[in-house]
Amino acid sequence: MGPPGPVIGYNRLQPVVTRYFLTLIQVSPLKLNMSLYPHLSQPQYRRCGITTKVCPTFPCIHVPCQDPDYLADYEEFLANNQVHEKTWELYNSLYGRTPSYTLKEQLSVAEWAFYDPKVERCRRLEGKKEQIRQERKAHEIRARIQYRMEEEELFNDESLKDHPFIIRRKEDRRRGNLP
Ligand SMILES: [Zn+2]
Repeated sequence: MGPPGPVIGYNRLQPVVTRYFLTLIQVSPLKLNMSLYPHLSQPQYRRCGITTKVCPTFPCIHVPCQDPDYLADYEEFLANNQVHEKTWELYNSLYGRTPSYTLKEQLSVAEWAFYDPKVERCRRLEGKKEQIRQERKAHEIRARIQYRMEEEELFNDESLKDHPFIIRRKEDRRRGNLP
């Protein structure tokens, strides 16, 4: 093959530049979305499907509940377990069956300023407990259907018929007549 033409500079760089900008377009909203939930958005906490690794945004449609309070509470549980625990202790002491201010009074003004919005979040969460339960239940059903459909697709893929996962799943289905 001969040497490239005279306009080598621009032409050869163009695909690189395009790729660079495409990466920017794809990556920035992703980072922006995930930064709210740096722990929860990690692949090990997500189930986006058999074939999809994880979706590029978070929360994606595969997250069992889209409620921002639910997600923030879960994120805190993962990010700072002690704060999460203390928040719920405070909530329970203030709004439980026998409300008490003892725990709250042990906090400095600055500490309470830190916990106050989190305790409020617990209050909102308690208020929509049933709604969240329903949302998660509906999601669970949808996820099972999606899993079945994806599995079916893999089972029907000739090129995958000898893959250990496929063999194992087919075996499971045969043995237990599993869904
Ligand atoms: Zn997803």
